[in-house]
Amino acid sequence: MDLYSGKINKLIEELSTLPGIGAKSAGRLAFYLINEPEEHVKRLTNAIIDAKENVHYCSECFTLTDEEVCPVCRSPKRDHRVIMVVENTRDLAAYEKTGRYDGVYHVLHGAISPMLGIGPDDIKLKELMKRLTGDIDEVIIATNSSLEGETTAMYISKLIKPSGIKVSRIASGVPVGGDLENIDEVTLLRALEGRTEL
Ligand code: ZN
Repeated sequence: MDLYSGKINKLIEELSTLPGIGAKSAGRLAFYLINEPEEHVKRLTNAIIDAKENVHYCSECFTLTDEEVCPVCRSPKRDHRVIMVVENTRDLAAYEKTGRYDGVYHVLHGAISPMLGIGPDDIKLKELMKRLTGDIDEVIIATNSSLEGETTAMYISKLIKPSGIKVSRIASGVPVGGDLENIDEVTLLRALEGRTEL
């Protein structure tokens, strides 16, 4: 039995496809939105569409940005010879929040996972190797300490080693399976400062 009209059900259904939103929350959100002034709802939907249409990968580090080259890659104050490899843009943001890292990044958009059928070609690894043909002093691998993150770190290290570029791995102060973005800044800085050469 449908409790609500088709249009309300449709909205609840769409909202419940969002991560972290269960059926109950989706219902709550749907009724909240319906009761909001039309202007607010339009602002919200426009922001979603605008972000979706205009956000793309930075042509250098592949983080999500609405510019051709992201602010970090564009900055002359950053050390462009040190590249920190992270799994996603949220991890990059976590390190940026510490305000203490002055190198640049490379965003893989995932990690190698044989279980999920994600191989080296499914993440931005070729793009990383291409960047390493330039003048690079160190690659800091800051993938998560999950099985996938560790697998990816090992794979990248083996790939880079022959080039003679220094490869290091952030210290394991980062909880296993923990998303970097959920870790406090002190822990992140400790992991970065305690990195070891692979
Ligand atoms: Zn960039």
